[in-house]
Amino acid sequence: MHTIKLYNTLSREVEPVKMHEPGRLTMYTCGPTVYHYAHIGNLRTYIMEDVLEKLFELDGCKVKRAMNITDVGHLTSDADTGEDKMLEGAKREGKTAMEIARFYTDAFFKDCEKLNIKKPEIVVPATDCIPDFIALIQKLFDNGCAYQAGGNVYFDTSKVKDYYCLTGHSADDLMVGVRDDVTEDVNKRNKTDFVLWFTVSKFGEQELRWDSPWGYGYPGWHIECSAISLKYLGEHLDLHAGGVDNIFPHHTNEIAQSEAAVGHPWCTHWFHPRHLNDKSGKMSKSKGGILTVSVLEEKGYKPLAYRYFCLQSHYLKPLVFSWESLDNAQQAYDKLTARIASLKARAAGAPDAAKVREYTDKFIETVGDDLNTSMGLTLLYEVLKADIDDATKIATAAEFDRVLSLGLLSGKAEETEEIDPRLEELLKLRAEAKKNRDWAAADRIRDEVKAAGYMIVDTPEGAKLKKI
Ligand code: AMP
Ligand code: ZN
Repeated sequence: MHTIKLYNTLSREVEPVKMHEPGRLTMYTCGPTVYHYAHIGNLRTYIMEDVLEKLFELDGCKVKRAMNITDVGHLTSDADTGEDKMLEGAKREGKTAMEIARFYTDAFFKDCEKLNIKKPEIVVPATDCIPDFIALIQKLFDNGCAYQAGGNVYFDTSKVKDYYCLTGHSADDLMVGVRDDVTEDVNKRNKTDFVLWFTVSKFGEQELRWDSPWGYGYPGWHIECSAISLKYLGEHLDLHAGGVDNIFPHHTNEIAQSEAAVGHPWCTHWFHPRHLNDKSGKMSKSKGGILTVSVLEEKGYKPLAYRYFCLQSHYLKPLVFSWESLDNAQQAYDKLTARIASLKARAAGAPDAAKVREYTDKFIETVGDDLNTSMGLTLLYEVLKADIDDATKIATAAEFDRVLSLGLLSGKAEETEEIDPRLEELLKLRAEAKKNRDWAAADRIRDEVKAAGYMIVDTPEGAKLKKI
């Protein structure tokens, strides 16, 4: 086994990921809030988490990974103000919160499948764990870290030794509710206290409520990740992942309440991929007009070209999305898979197993140096042009693809057919329209071609026609 190093938000250093039980990694991932489709920014985070999990697996570790589905309690600010996002989704679509949750949970996993993101071993909707949240809150009461005020139950952050351990901030540069304006809650003993259980809500129509020792209500968002993680992964968590916006207040509060409950340090390593931004700033579900995997597909992009786009850059750098860079990524991706397809067609005989092992070790060391996926891709290109036989190249690419998950070996040979010159002309017009970002014209041409019995397939050499 290799030493896999990763930047740790908690220590603010790149350091080896330690396992409480050697060879068995416990990993917790903050899951989606299922009130809308996941945008491709959210999916950047899930792609990087997926690569990380698979890297440990390629190295021979057994990874036990859990993820929540947030279907209650996440308010429109990350602190305790605003409306429940699920309720917002339900109102928008004239459905119940649970209908919304089911629909967008399915949509999320369909998108993950298209991006070759593996479903974590344990996936738990928050609404399935209400008794666990109540038990954890009760424990916090027993430990003297929770109090009731104005109907709600709060966590008392003054009981925590180093509340800001994750951010490195001090109480002087207090940040609460990073996403929205904060309205002061007079019930809180300390500004940083947060709600564990709501009974009093500014929005009386909250659909999802349960009985509890503190009254009919619903859990706060932060308690769900602590409770699910403690329940499924135990009191010593090796690795916790989530987008950078989760560092404060969400993960800060998770640490406070989990450690208050177990009475010792809880999670050793914190992994926070940076955001995908568009030109106008951070991509967010609440902005509307979000970019989803389906939108990419409608515009003729392959979901795996987006995965390739993400792997080209380091997770600790914010990534700026543009159609030009996605075009480039798709071109490079198509070229790569076509090259592997032709090597595969030529490959004969058994691969050199020792060579494959040698390259795979180098790959784990390279990518295992703070998840350097772009260097992993560079190593793949080196293998493809190395002075070794094709069967060894293909077998090595297959090993790398257990982590990269780019469908590297599923590229197909092109079919050739006689095509009507009028349709060839339409292809040129569509390429022109795409270049000018005239998506309406490009879609119109696609429909016209379809009516003539052909579909347009984007290939490394440009768009091609294929009989339907
Ligand atoms: P949500 O569904 O809003 O709870 O977010 C799901 C995951 O996506 C969390 O880990 C967030 O931190 C992450 N996330 C949110 N916005 C972005 C973004 N623009 N780029 C990358 N990750 C994001
Ligand atoms: Zn979480």
